[in-house]
Amino acid sequence: MSDNCLFCKIAKGEIPSKKVYEDEDFFAFHDINPAAPVHLLLIPKRHVVSMQDIGPQDTQWLGRMMALAPRLAHDNGCTPGPDGGFRLVVNTGVEGGQEIAHLHFHIIGGPRPWDKRAAPAA
Ligand code: AMP
Ligand code: ZN
Repeated sequence: MSDNCLFCKIAKGEIPSKKVYEDEDFFAFHDINPAAPVHLLLIPKRHVVSMQDIGPQDTQWLGRMMALAPRLAHDNGCTPGPDGGFRLVVNTGVEGGQEIAHLHFHIIGGPRPWDKRAAPAA
C-alpha cells in the first residue's frame, strides 16, 4: 500500500467508489468517467505501479487477475460471446497513457451502436 495513492485509498475504502467486486487480493469499481456503457477498473490491492514492474514472481496473482476480467465484464453488462466481448486495456507508464500510478485493467464494453467497431455486422 502506498500512502498517497488514489487507488490504494479506494481499495481500502478510504475514498468512495462504485464497487462491483472485492476479494483478498483484488478490487473492482466503475470508472468515474466511463468511455462506454460498461467501464470498470480492476486493480490489485497491493500497490504495483504498472506492467513495467511485473516480473516472473508475479505470474500467479496476475494470472488470477486476468481470469477475473471476463467474469466481471459479463457480470456487469458486457455481452458474452464472439458478437459481444469487451476491451481489456492496460495503459502503462506516461508514454503509455497511464495517469494513475497503480496498476489497473480497464474493462470496457457494452452495446455501442454508434461505434462502428462495436456494432454487429450488417
Ligand atoms: P489511466 O489513464 O489508464 O491511468 O486511467 C485512469 C482512470 O481512472 C481514468 O479512466 C479515470 O476516469 C479513472 N479515475 C480517476 N479517478 C477515479 C476515481 N476516483 N474513481 C473511479 N475512477 C477514477
Ligand atoms: Zn496504490
